[in-house]
Amino acid sequence: MPSDLHVHTTFSDGRLSPEEIVAAAKKAGLTYIAISDHDTIDGIRHLYEEGLYPCKGVKIIPGIEFSAHNVGHEVHIVGYNIDMFNTALQEKLDEVVESRWVRFSKMIEKLQAMGYGITEAEVLKLAGESKSISRSHIAQALVERKFFRDISQVFDEIMYKNGPAYVSHYRLSVAEIIALIRQAGGLAVLAHPKLIGDDALVREIIDAGIDGLEVFYPQHDAADTEKYLQMAKEHQLIITGGSDYHGIPTRYPQELGEFVIDDSFAEVIYRQMK
Ligand code: AMP
Ligand code: MN
Ligand code: MN
Ligand code: MN
Repeated sequence: MPSDLHVHTTFSDGRLSPEEIVAAAKKAGLTYIAISDHDTIDGIRHLYEEGLYPCKGVKIIPGIEFSAHNVGHEVHIVGYNIDMFNTALQEKLDEVVESRWVRFSKMIEKLQAMGYGITEAEVLKLAGESKSISRSHIAQALVERKFFRDISQVFDEIMYKNGPAYVSHYRLSVAEIIALIRQAGGLAVLAHPKLIGDDALVREIIDAGIDGLEVFYPQHDAADTEKYLQMAKEHQLIITGGSDYHGIPTRYPQELGEFVIDDSFAEVIYRQMK
């Protein structure tokens, strides 16, 4: 049976609401899903408040995706089994999300100076209920205004890390993220190691005390998967995987259930839930 441990909702930069994700997961026959929004656990709390977590028919693992501080590389760490009512976690997330708002304004100013006349209001309309404003939302607005063909082109040309339209926001260090996840009862997993683009850095992060490695990922080919599988085994890390589903057209996978992992990997994490 299939599972997916990396899914975004409307509470960050995903297209489907948490309710829609749960429905889509049931329809696709998924056993486990982990909701892993950027810098927020509001989507999980929302499901809890709506009586959809815990849920009949699909086992939900509460997760979160952090972006770590690193000057040259994009380093993402996913936390699984985090306590959605943990105060220290929520306080840090509030700080990060707040700095995303400041960064959002700076990016809009930068884009306007570059000749792309988009406004904060346009982006916010697309961002809907998300309070965790990201580059994806801004990129969507630029595509909507036909400045670019699709979101990938926006990232490739101007919005890549340290690119002309890029502005950084407050990010915790790898060590701080691992500690924050752990004190909230969770497991820290290094997300999409290939996308970091530097295996020496991947090893450094493993040595910093990460619990798991996202071995299975859409952009990992067979050789990458084998390499990270060996790395995980060598360091006795938990092996995870997921689709990084956003529901954005032109970004694979288009549907939940198209990229899945075996339940046995999800089971290991679920069993460690308090
Ligand atoms: P942020 O966290 O605001 O810096 O935005 C990063 C988000 O943008 C990631 O989580 C991805 O969802 C999205 N993203 C990054 N690179 C690309 C890309 N090349 N194409 C489409 N989306 C991307
Ligand atoms: Mn994203
Ligand atoms: Mn990521
Ligand atoms: Mn993600």
